[in-house]
Amino acid sequence: MRCTICGSQNFVQNHVLWDGLVSEWQLAPHEARYINAQQGTACAHCGANLRSIALADAMRAFLGTDLLLAQVNVQERCANMATLEINEAGTLTPFLRTLPRYTFGAYPEVDMHALPYADGSFDLVLHSDTLEHVQHPVHALRECWRVLRPGGALAFTVPIVVGRMSRSRDGLAPSYHGNPATDTQDYIVHTEFGADAWTHVMQAGFKRVELHTVEFPNAVSMLARKDAGA
Ligand SMILES: [Zn+2]
Repeated sequence: MRCTICGSQNFVQNHVLWDGLVSEWQLAPHEARYINAQQGTACAHCGANLRSIALADAMRAFLGTDLLLAQVNVQERCANMATLEINEAGTLTPFLRTLPRYTFGAYPEVDMHALPYADGSFDLVLHSDTLEHVQHPVHALRECWRVLRPGGALAFTVPIVVGRMSRSRDGLAPSYHGNPATDTQDYIVHTEFGADAWTHVMQAGFKRVELHTVEFPNAVSMLARKDAGA
């Protein structure tokens, strides 16, 4: 396994899931293992966890480059690329902040159901493990679609339990991400995504979705492209 941000092949494992979350999500032991890995396995050199590396791979695909992300000359290659990062996209944020035309949409201050940007404002929109906290994920994805220019793309991750279908947590006991000791409503989980996660993207109006993975089923990211003719 290699970090496609910095190139290191050294990884460290942190344990991040807690028993309450494992039981709320009804995760089987093998599912808990790979979700732990996508969140807690991190590059020993740059600190990127697997989901951030998966997101980096989606971004490299958008840029059409085989270079490590850290090797991309962003001043040249991204000079005309308007990028929106919603929430902090894992450990990719320091890199994204080096982009010449970069906008940060703080979450939850920026409402994903009503993004405060004009239609067609961005070439690339990114978010990471945020959509599961949004009440209406298809609506939020439609907003991402709206603010993209035709030919632009959305790169994002959500935690995906690949062996089952997505389910809404409406009507179930509240479940939170982040530190279990500091529950806040902002990080309540509305959707547990499953194998059909990509269908939300298509429902939102995107015509093409690519999946990228670091070490399946650890860490899957999606690159959704807005039609050039849209
Ligand atoms: Zn790295």
